[in-house]
Formats: sequence, structure tokens, C-alpha cells
Amino acid sequence: MIRLNDFRRIVFFTGAGLSAESGVPTYRGKGGLWEEYDYREYACQRAFDRDPGKVWDFHDERRRFIAAREPNDGHRIIASVPGATVITQNIDGLHQRAGSAGVLELHGSLWRVRCARCGTVTENPEAPIRSRRCACGTWLRPDIVWFEDMLDVETMRAAGDAIARCDLLVSVGTSGVVYPAADLPRLALARGAVAVEINPEETSLSPLYTHCLRGSASEMLARML
Ligand code: NAD
Repeated sequence: MIRLNDFRRIVFFTGAGLSAESGVPTYRGKGGLWEEYDYREYACQRAFDRDPGKVWDFHDERRRFIAAREPNDGHRIIASVPGATVITQNIDGLHQRAGSAGVLELHGSLWRVRCARCGTVTENPEAPIRSRRCACGTWLRPDIVWFEDMLDVETMRAAGDAIARCDLLVSVGTSGVVYPAADLPRLALARGAVAVEINPEETSLSPLYTHCLRGSASEMLARML
């Protein structure tokens, strides 16, 4: 069994499955968000340009929903590992609420907004948000990487650097189908790191990992303690 204590430079690479035990639905599969909602109406820049109020109604509902959820043992175990780097595809902020610092959020955050005109990015924990407009009058936009958006170059670079240096990569609750994020585990393996996949189901990336733990995030992470 792989033990977290045996490694010095650990990276956790997390996805929607980690937050599933907090009651946050994953994207794919039964009950997935994009089965119910069409992303072209709610989660892309074109939808926002067409009808920002409608896109904000959707995101305010996500804020209310996630504000009512709590981090689970999986988030807490990850936060308890000293010096570990957390790279997440999640936008829910649950890692930070569990106590993780310096989280690299590849797909942005539901809890930040940005103004296209001023270029400012601001933390905003309100659910629902009190003002959807910047002081300059422009609509604020959720600071999330929506469908068809580019990833933030600096965040991606920091994630790549951490992965290139790690001796253990633990991938938790990700289907590994969203690129370029899904390329990161390959980088760890190419550098000779031990790479563990935690997922109750096999994924298209499973054959790449040196170890696969089939079970829920919180149970399998507890086993690695
Ligand atoms: P995904 O929905 O594609 O895949 C989720 C994976 O988690 C699946 O492989 C599933 O088998 C696994 N899983 C389900 N329950 C689990 C559990 N209890 N423990 C461990 N694994 C479990 O999610 P993804 O790979 O993160 O990629 C989809 C995109 O969805 C990402 O871009 C992410 O930003 C976004 N997303 C984020 C949230 C969130 O912030 N909580 C929620 C949904 C989707």
C-alpha cells in the first residue's frame, strides 16, 4: 500500500468526484449538471454576452447550493498533509474551506468575480451575490473557466512545475476527460513519480497510473494515511 508519509513532494490532483461526498453532483454521469442544463445557455462567454442576467441566475443558484454544503473527510485529509500542493479542477472552494492553502484552481472559482473593463478580480463569498455589476458599471463575470475559455497560463504553469517536482501524484475523483488538465498526470509519470488514481470506476487514464484504488475519495485517502 502506498503511504502518504513515505513521500516528500506530494501533489493532489482533484476533480468533481472528491466533492461528490459533500453532496455536490459531478458533471458527468447520472445526476450530472450538464444532463439537466445546456452549457450553451449557462456556462460560456457567448451565453453571458447574450443574457448576463440569466447566466447570473444560474451561478447564484450554484452559489446558494454549494454554500450550504460542507467539505468532507477527503478534503480534510488532503488539507492535513503538510507541504502538499493541491491542484483542482473544482470551482467549489471546498478545499479552502477544509483548510488547504495555495490551491491551484485550474478552472477558476465560483467565489471570485472579474470585471472585463477594469481587469480586477475580486473574492466574493456572497450567495446570492449582492451586486452583479462592478463599480465602473460593467457586468461582473464569474471568474470560472467556462466551456470554450482558455485556462489561466500562470496557474497552468504553476501546476506543471509542482507536478514536474513531485514524487507522488494522487489523482482523486476525476474522469480525466477534460483537457488540458487531464494531461497533468502524464507529466508526473514521465518524470518517474509514483501516481495513484482514486476513483470508484475505471477511467480512460487508469492504465497510465502505477496504482489504482477503487473506492470513494474519503475511504481511499484514509487508507493512505
Ligand atoms: P467528472 O464529473 O468528469 O468526473 C467525476 C469522476 O469522479 C468520475 O470519474 C467518477 O467516477 C468519480 N467519482 C464519483 N464519486 C466519487 C467518489 N465518491 N470518490 C472518488 N471519485 C468519485 O469531473 P472532473 O473529472 O472533475 O471533470 C469535469 C469538470 O467538472 C471539471 O472541469 C470541473 O471543473 C467541473 N466540476 C466541478 C465541480 C465542483 O467544483 N465540485 C462539480 C462538477 C464539475
